[in-house]
Amino acid sequence: MTFETDAIHAGYNSSPNQHAASVPIYATAAFNMESALRGDGLASGEEEGFSYSRVANPTVDILEKRLAQLEGGIGAVAVSSGMAAVSYALLCVAEQGGRIISSTNLYGASIDAMETFFPNFGICTDFVSNINNLGEVESLITPDTRAIFAESVANPSTELTDIEGLSSLAHRYGIPLIVDNTVPTPYLFRPIEFGADIVVHSTTKGITGHGNAIGGIVIDAGHFDWDNGRFPQFTQTELVISDERQGRWESFCSAFGKSAFIQRVRTKYLHTLGAVQSPFNAYLQLVGLETLPQRIRQEVSSATTIATHLQQLPHVVKVFYSGIDKGPQSILREKYFPHGVGTILSFLVDGTEENVMKILDSVKTFTYIPNIGDAKSLIVNPARITHREVPAEYRNTAGISDNLIRLSIGLENVNDLIADIGQAIASAY
Ligand SMILES: *Cc1c(COP(=O)(O)O)cnc(C)c1O
Repeated sequence: MTFETDAIHAGYNSSPNQHAASVPIYATAAFNMESALRGDGLASGEEEGFSYSRVANPTVDILEKRLAQLEGGIGAVAVSSGMAAVSYALLCVAEQGGRIISSTNLYGASIDAMETFFPNFGICTDFVSNINNLGEVESLITPDTRAIFAESVANPSTELTDIEGLSSLAHRYGIPLIVDNTVPTPYLFRPIEFGADIVVHSTTKGITGHGNAIGGIVIDAGHFDWDNGRFPQFTQTELVISDERQGRWESFCSAFGKSAFIQRVRTKYLHTLGAVQSPFNAYLQLVGLETLPQRIRQEVSSATTIATHLQQLPHVVKVFYSGIDKGPQSILREKYFPHGVGTILSFLVDGTEENVMKILDSVKTFTYIPNIGDAKSLIVNPARITHREVPAEYRNTAGISDNLIRLSIGLENVNDLIADIGQAIASAY
């Protein structure tokens, strides 16, 4: 099926759901196991079904199946936020003293996690300022490296990542490539088609599309060999998936093969750390997903018009939108992003931070909100808000100065948006 059709139908069958046209919200903590025999089968994993909503819930399950289908993965685990998705994916590959190689051009909380928090758990990150410099990335690979991590389109610079180049480099060393695909959404880009092994999203953004729910998802391409000697956590036996009474011991690799990673995220991370997606939020995300292609097409068109217009405005020093870039980024755009790079852009203004504050206070149609991917157009100053926790050194190489303003383009009329940003800039000087 095509993307538009899957966005509406994938993963849902109405007949076992009272023929409900809209996906039901299964607001239940747990499920009747019906018989002692079935209970034993559910607990051992031999029988398929739901037992407790911390591990799986039917509404959430439909969202997982739909997004796995849209990204071209074999399975997914929905979680309560994008940061839970990023954290679970990275910890699951790097636990037991692994290292991560990552771009510095990332969402603020992801940088903060890898720079200041994961090291407390023995997981350290080797950062590179230009993740497309494959020679530099290769020079950082050690026997402890467990993953390469990048955003397909960086927030807020919209810099594009050479996913195919990175994945073939990673695979030569038996390392998985983990991609945060939040900014383009699977409508504009599907990293698995270019070799990515794990895709994570903040579904809070374009996927939900209306700024009304926080959510995240981890999607497994199902083609990485976790039994290659680098990942002891996947080959050691685990009680939770074994049958001690029968003396049958399994590791995630022996029990699940190619789906070892996504099973481990659910069975260890969701099961113990418990950042579950609520069925109500999953429902909002399923409704949002139905119009993803139409919304993104409109928003990309408006973002392109606005980026081009901003380039001609007084006080705008530079516009960051790889969708109109004529330099080296245009080669990656033509290869990976034929339908556009996304719905956010940023621009640098002259003057001082006071001028930036005046622009933020003068907009009327844009709203000053630290989010992206909403149907409403949003404006923010990343250096103070969304990327505040990023060390100055990384902010500078990612171009996030105090005079940078980020826009997330929504569904309002593009002429109203252009008029609004124009009057806000004019009144700020
Ligand atoms: C927002 C965002 C996140 C974090 O997602 P939450 O849902 O806010 O936890 C991670 N990565 C990127 C690229 C984001 O834009």
